[in-house]
Amino acid sequence: MSSSETKTDVILIGAGIMSATLGTLLKELVPEWEITVYEKLANAGEESSNEWNNAGTGHSALCELNYTVEKPDGSLDISKAIKINEQFQLSRQFWSYLVNRNLIRNPRDFIMPIPHMSLVQGEQDVTFLKKRFKALSDNPLFQGMEFSDDHEKLIEWIPLIMEGRTLNEPIAATKIDSGTDVNFGALTRMLFDHLESKNVEINYNHSVEDIKRTDDGSWELKVWNMATGNIERHTAKFVFIGGGGGSLHLLQKTGIPESKHIGGFPVSGIFMVCNDPDVVGQHHAKVYGKAKVGAPPMSVPHLDTRYIDNKKSLLFGPFAGFSPKFLKTGSNMDLITSVKPNNVLTMLAAGAKQMPLTKYLIQQVMLSKEQRMEELREFIPNAKSEDWDLVVAGQRVQVIKDTEAGGKGTLQFGTEVITAADGSIAALLGASPGASTAVHVMLEIIKKCFPEHIEEWESKIKEMIPSHGVSLMENPELLHEIHTSTAQTLGLSEKELIFS
Ligand SMILES: Cc1cc2nc3c(=O)[nH]c(=O)nc-3n(C[C@H](O)[C@H](O)[C@H](O)COP(=O)(O)OP(=O)(O)OC[C@H]3O[C@@H](n4cnc5c(N)ncnc54)[C@H](O)[C@@H]3O)c2cc1C
Repeated sequence: MSSSETKTDVILIGAGIMSATLGTLLKELVPEWEITVYEKLANAGEESSNEWNNAGTGHSALCELNYTVEKPDGSLDISKAIKINEQFQLSRQFWSYLVNRNLIRNPRDFIMPIPHMSLVQGEQDVTFLKKRFKALSDNPLFQGMEFSDDHEKLIEWIPLIMEGRTLNEPIAATKIDSGTDVNFGALTRMLFDHLESKNVEINYNHSVEDIKRTDDGSWELKVWNMATGNIERHTAKFVFIGGGGGSLHLLQKTGIPESKHIGGFPVSGIFMVCNDPDVVGQHHAKVYGKAKVGAPPMSVPHLDTRYIDNKKSLLFGPFAGFSPKFLKTGSNMDLITSVKPNNVLTMLAAGAKQMPLTKYLIQQVMLSKEQRMEELREFIPNAKSEDWDLVVAGQRVQVIKDTEAGGKGTLQFGTEVITAADGSIAALLGASPGASTAVHVMLEIIKKCFPEHIEEWESKIKEMIPSHGVSLMENPELLHEIHTSTAQTLGLSEKELIFS
């Protein structure tokens, strides 16, 4: 068989954090399986997973206010916050396993400890934050969270944000030191280097153009080798569509019933970045505010300390925007070509429902740099325009589908795993909470697609991720043990080890 026509066990489409995680998990579970990767760009981690294309927050619901929802009776629903925190603990354990076995090195290059804070202003929001603090701080997963509405304390915690602030209404914050900044781009590249060393074949500059089922139930991919211009055919028993924003088009090509009646709506992100060491040195936290009324949850403003290439910088945003592209490097035709006879009604229904969102996104796109600076000044009153530059981040393609609760054409803000009934192909759509929960999502794919192997793999999964299948919230001792050991392995600060 020529190199342009191959047969393999597993094909991963796309070299982002999701394929990197699934490939690494599978190589540990079944080292003998042959895995091949096709990526249309020249390197790994160049799209959403790239460090400049996302905010690098290790999402564990320590600071994101939209994960705790106020119910009509005034009480708080914290179930989503618990779920996301538990999912992040799986990522920490898997990354620690890889570091402990020298499969990846130098955790400092991809994860750093950084306090996670929530900041609100105004009577109503301060009451909400206090309620959220009370609901979370007794929970073992959120132990160590502090609350303050004392100005002196806030000056100590967030001097840059407090300087020059007119305080004519209440202000309050919560702070927890066990937060992280994750360089998902660096992690993705490390994982692909590791996979390459395990003989995984990684083909860059190879764009997957079509996917068809063969007579024996495998999947044949039509791949455009962009270096030679040739069309190649590659077959695998199992295919993961990890194309990020490119996944919807590829899923549609499979023709599986599960791919029908699903659409996508792209939301772009823009950050402001500051590299001035004087300004950067005055802030040390990821500080999340509350989304403006009418704004989608992914545009909650936050001011983040970032560690990229061993350099500290500040990132503010994201400002949402509209572009019809599904990938940053995608085409202006992406949105139009994703509309098919089977999803046109779903898309039209969403269009009618989401007029306010579309209007909001268009308004965001039209903002001038000075208008963006005004939003930044709500965080840093003394911010100077010359210290901040704009960076265009990645595209998030929000899933649109018909749901019982929301009806036809409901916009989803989470991630969706779509698998064929026989488990031979899986795709990941959506982008939130995203890279932080990659290990959880890929374990879900493994369970759905390889049910016949799960029993045999269970002990290896437990070795890699000791809390797999166990609620850490209900097992505070195990949580303490895992938190302490992963903090040590990943080089997270001593301050993190606040568990009694
Ligand atoms: C503005 C923004 C902020 C975010 N902030 C955070 C955050 O703070 N924390 C967090 O955890 N997550 C965050 N996310 C989400 C996170 O970035 C994504 O969930 C994650 O990177 C998705 O990884 P992926 O592997 O699915 O996709 P990607 O990293 O986009 O990788 C997909 C790859 O597939 C390739 N590809 C696509 N189509 C084809 C094809 N036809 N053939 C071959 N290759 C193809 C692409 O070139 C790309 O390399 C954020 C996202 C955005 C956009």
